[in-house]
Amino acid sequence: MPPSRPGLSLVAWAALLGALCSCLPVRPPPSREEPGRLRYHVTYVREPRHALEVGILRVGEGAPRDFLFSQPGGVERVRIFGADGSERELPVSAEGHVLVPPDTRSLRYRYVLDASRRGRHAGFFTGQGEDDARQVAGRAWLLRPRSVGPALRAELVVEGVDALLPWVPDARGVYQLQGDDLVNSGFHSFGGRRCTVRLPGGVLEVAVLGRPSHMDDAALCAWLERSAREVLTVRRSFPYPRVTVGLVTVPAREDPVPFGMVLWSTPPSISLWVGQDAAPAAFTRDWVAVHELLHLAHPPIFPRVAWLSEGLATYYTELARARSGRQTPERAWVELLAGFERARRAVGSRTMEDVVTRGDSYLGTYWTGALVALHLDVELRRLTGNTRGLDDVLERLAESGPAATFDAFGAAVDAIAGRPLFHEVLSRHLPRPALAELEPLLEALGVEPAPDGVRLGIARDSTLRDALVAPR
Ligand SMILES: [Zn+2]
Repeated sequence: MPPSRPGLSLVAWAALLGALCSCLPVRPPPSREEPGRLRYHVTYVREPRHALEVGILRVGEGAPRDFLFSQPGGVERVRIFGADGSERELPVSAEGHVLVPPDTRSLRYRYVLDASRRGRHAGFFTGQGEDDARQVAGRAWLLRPRSVGPALRAELVVEGVDALLPWVPDARGVYQLQGDDLVNSGFHSFGGRRCTVRLPGGVLEVAVLGRPSHMDDAALCAWLERSAREVLTVRRSFPYPRVTVGLVTVPAREDPVPFGMVLWSTPPSISLWVGQDAAPAAFTRDWVAVHELLHLAHPPIFPRVAWLSEGLATYYTELARARSGRQTPERAWVELLAGFERARRAVGSRTMEDVVTRGDSYLGTYWTGALVALHLDVELRRLTGNTRGLDDVLERLAESGPAATFDAFGAAVDAIAGRPLFHEVLSRHLPRPALAELEPLLEALGVEPAPDGVRLGIARDSTLRDALVAPR
């Protein structure tokens, strides 16, 4: 749900006038209604089951009354306490709504962290881990205002456990939050163990939840550091000063990272599953962690355009691993070609527009996006004599703000190209069968599928091809 946009109040007009013309002796009239605040007090309890006991204190007349669990299903009722000492229970609607009466002073509810009863795949957001090592997405446990204005402030305190949330608490241990933090609240780790990965420009604060059989914490964090450093083959410095990562051990899995996801809290937070039985060598071949970390190389794009963000991360997953030396250039092309082929098998002769609009094939979405990324990169290098490319687009986009739009991405491409390139390339992909542009592009780059992988030959753009994956 988009944040509400209240109309400009008298106070805001006065402030605006004051800002526009400092000569006017305007003093805003005193506010008749406090904007209102929320104070969250979260206690981690272990009996009878591991749960979060949440209290929300409404402070000020303007404090929100209309609340929402972004992902409903975890809490069925809340207790509300009136200013007159009254107390009663309110049901949470199937859509996750709770509307409290105007005189409500506080709310209380319990969120049980054991997600097994909520379906096999639901745990990624609703509660993973066991014993004293848990992860849950804020969208599942945090009752937030249904709409938030820019003035809303909230304080949040966690007791009874070592918590790792996307934000940094103040000196008193209080998280000072804005409305959007409550809406896009990210992944939250409770308990487990910690390590810190230091990078040029940023740190990863890592929660290790559970115990993989063959990797101790130092080995896990060293592996994560190597993956995070691959972001620096794309961006000049790490894109965020501090990002939290939860490594959640999943039993009976030999693949190193069966699944991962970034949530766009501010700053972003990442959750990665770690296969309990994965061998150390398997982590060297992992691509999931670097894929999720590479999402940090582009700003969040709102509204979300899955083919663009996934296309960028998918494309760069192969480039970054070659640039770091983790895989050879030939291997990078083998992986790219294999991905494009899987997508082609998945979507047949459907147009890219149909594939990305319907969004019914994740292979189609990821790899048509990756092909557009490759195409843009090559065209940018053609136009600039191989001096600039897609990396520069991401750098430029990051300089223009913490989030981007589809149009802003296109404008950044055009700015680096020096001409309207973005829509020109898109118009060659969207209305035609997905991946129709692949063969001519590979031919120009001198990338030839061969029985044992690929052959990289001399061609019109083979210099560009080598630059894409050159070590850095
Ligand atoms: Zn992704």
